[in-house]
Amino acid sequence: MAMRIDRRRFLQASAGIALLAGVSRTPLFAGTLGDNPFTLGVASGDPWPDGFVIWTRLAPRPLDAHGGMPAVRVPVRWEVAEDEGFRRVVRQGEAIAMPELGHSVHVEVEGLRPHRHYWYRFALAGSDASPAGRARTAPLAGAVVDRARIAVAGCQHWEMGWYDAWGHLAGEPDLDLVFHYGDYIYEGGTTPLGPSANGEWTCVRQHAGGEIYSIDDYRRRYAQYKSDPQLQAAHAACAFAASFDDHEIDNNYAGDIDQDGTAPEIFALRRLAGLQAWYENMPVRKAQFPSLQAGLTAYRRLDWGRLLRTHVLDTRSFRSDQPCDDGKIKPCGPDAHDSPEILGRTQEAWLDQGLANDAAWNLLAQQIIVMPVDFRAEGASEPSFATDLWDGYRPARARLVESIRRHGLSNVVIASGDHHRHLVGEVPENDEAPDGRKVAVEFQAASMTSNGNGFGEERLGHIRRNNPHFALYTDRRGYQLFDITPTQWTTEVKAMDYVDRPGSPIRTLQRFVVAPDRPKLERA
Ligand code: FE
Ligand code: CA
Repeated sequence: MAMRIDRRRFLQASAGIALLAGVSRTPLFAGTLGDNPFTLGVASGDPWPDGFVIWTRLAPRPLDAHGGMPAVRVPVRWEVAEDEGFRRVVRQGEAIAMPELGHSVHVEVEGLRPHRHYWYRFALAGSDASPAGRARTAPLAGAVVDRARIAVAGCQHWEMGWYDAWGHLAGEPDLDLVFHYGDYIYEGGTTPLGPSANGEWTCVRQHAGGEIYSIDDYRRRYAQYKSDPQLQAAHAACAFAASFDDHEIDNNYAGDIDQDGTAPEIFALRRLAGLQAWYENMPVRKAQFPSLQAGLTAYRRLDWGRLLRTHVLDTRSFRSDQPCDDGKIKPCGPDAHDSPEILGRTQEAWLDQGLANDAAWNLLAQQIIVMPVDFRAEGASEPSFATDLWDGYRPARARLVESIRRHGLSNVVIASGDHHRHLVGEVPENDEAPDGRKVAVEFQAASMTSNGNGFGEERLGHIRRNNPHFALYTDRRGYQLFDITPTQWTTEVKAMDYVDRPGSPIRTLQRFVVAPDRPKLERA
């Protein structure tokens, strides 16, 4: 398994790279780190027909400054093989892990064959090879494809539970992709161990350090989360399509506005630090590289032959502020829920263009609940709507509905997260008629750990009754699995028994099927 590098060959190779790199005089590291530099595992992402991104980040001591790395550039060898034993290596090369990028490594592997599995790994001078990861390339554009299997997961608060759900996800057979809807990290400080102040969840392990603001803080937080072996196993098992929601930066932020009323030009610096750390820690392409001038473009499309087009959306970066100061100004009636932008006009036009396609299915892979949800309390006479969801942005939702209708699409499936509960329902064309005509189906996956064990459907019966377009609503932890064929979409809703101690089994709560000619849920 050792991919040890011959020292002389290595020095020649690094000399070549230093010449190529040219501009930087930062010394190349040619010593031995003396520790395992691959403590954060490996990952792959954004498969396309001839390749995918492979990722690692060097951090021999994850919680130390700079992950325990010296402040030098480090050449890292990588290889991609057709077999698990790395006997048939088909691509290899060298990348430079730079201190400027937290010693992360992103390689966009090209020249692979479509729709097949590959294995990849990394090594550097004096180290054994990293663990191996596996990824599958996408089918060719236009190829007829029988099946795709996608898991949807996110909201993995470190303190609120153990990552056994990630371990279960790592073992799911035949996964092609994991869509991560965000809240990969949470920005808050350390919580006392044991039951939370409100008694609703248990702090099982603690964040290192206080609330995170600087690039080093964000890097360290990712390092802590990524040190978990079950999360690493999920990354090693399958390519991810990573997106982000609010907690990668700050709770419920909107564009350059945070929840604390910080001056936008000051919050913008924090946001850039958070986005840089997101880039460094996610297996995403150079197209998602953060830029001081333009921010970061996280929205992108992933095609799976003729079967599926996935539109990965960014519902945070370009939105207008939430109405009613994010619900803090009361009353905030339904007619006040008209904040104008959630995708921003550029992304919105890009999505509208991308919906012109003849794939069997369109998946909107995004973060927050799209359908209207009346959250009124038991017995209340007035409806109550959330401000941070699409419900706070009704003009934007109306334009999305109109775009789907204009393209004549009956095959739109929406994946969401953020809300920490499984929610399955049909998106009505008209906000005022939730039991009327539908435009899409929506599968909102519960959190992996956030908010602890949960209480099932107990206490949620009135919300079910007030929302006739819901098919399932439950406060449990877990993820969802999409099994997609040209004629049928099946979603399996998976739930953990508990997350406040290790070892919970996972169960299938329910299965739903959808046909591409009608946005209607059926129980399987
Ligand atoms: Fe969350
Ligand atoms: Ca969130």
